[in-house]
Amino acid sequence: MNNSIAEEVKTEDINERIIGSVEGDPDGPTVVILAGMHGNESAGVEAVKNIIRTLDGIVPPIDGCLLGLRANISALQHNVRYIDEDMNRIWFPSIVNEVQETPEAELESSERVEMKRLLAALDGIDDKTNGPVIMADIHTFSADGWMFTITNSDPKQRKLLSNLHVPMVFGIEESLLGTALGYYQKQGYISFGLEGGQHTHQLTEYNTTASLMLLLQAVGCIEEQYVDQIEKYEKHMRSHTKYLPVETELVYQHIIENGDEFRMRSGYKNFQPIKKGERLATDKDGKIVARCDGYILMPLYQSQGNDGFFIIKEHES
Ligand SMILES: [Zn+2]
Repeated sequence: MNNSIAEEVKTEDINERIIGSVEGDPDGPTVVILAGMHGNESAGVEAVKNIIRTLDGIVPPIDGCLLGLRANISALQHNVRYIDEDMNRIWFPSIVNEVQETPEAELESSERVEMKRLLAALDGIDDKTNGPVIMADIHTFSADGWMFTITNSDPKQRKLLSNLHVPMVFGIEESLLGTALGYYQKQGYISFGLEGGQHTHQLTEYNTTASLMLLLQAVGCIEEQYVDQIEKYEKHMRSHTKYLPVETELVYQHIIENGDEFRMRSGYKNFQPIKKGERLATDKDGKIVARCDGYILMPLYQSQGNDGFFIIKEHES
């Protein structure tokens, strides 16, 4: 590829990658929303579009900067979790460096090409404003049930995320290796994952929109009085998650190995209470039972993915 064609490809990609951006007072925070890291999870992309539509042109403008990006464009186009490898399991500094240094044509997977282009779109993000950078990575899941955030248990971050009225799950960010949220956390950003609901459930897009608007308010990008819907979103989120534990932590993760023939028992939903000894799934070796009491999280009801289910319990602070 000669230089001018390479530049053209880069510009085209950035145009497609940016779902939208809003720039206001440069002293405010920078909020980056990544959507569609898994291509069968497009509700996050729609939620970002809703937010951009709402905030574009409000007076006074937002404080800081908001940037919404499509993470895995090829997988989104094919409506699959990934093309060659899971894009949310390759964010190791060694891989990120290698991807940055390797010419695109020599990269070994579609997801590494996507990563290279996403990194280019994120280049210089710290320079946009003088405030902190907050990174939200938006996902959805295959089972029914409630939404949650994946976050560390740092008190400042907990305080910030409590404004979303979405249950927080601690510890997953340490057990899932190679996630974008983990990578950016180590870069010093406030970084968390938002699992907005079942992939195609009618409330998933709305709930994701609502909780991200509450995030923008909590970090100081927008003030309640200038955005009509904020009050409505807050009321909705409070009542939607009223009966759920506010803070939980991971106690068990069931990892699927190749050839396991894993099958989740039907009917499990996020935050469904389970009892020790309860049969949750089967694989080639037989029954898989719960090792402890708790709530089930993200039982897997799709073929792509390596985590069968998680068990969480209420966090004792
Ligand atoms: Zn996902």
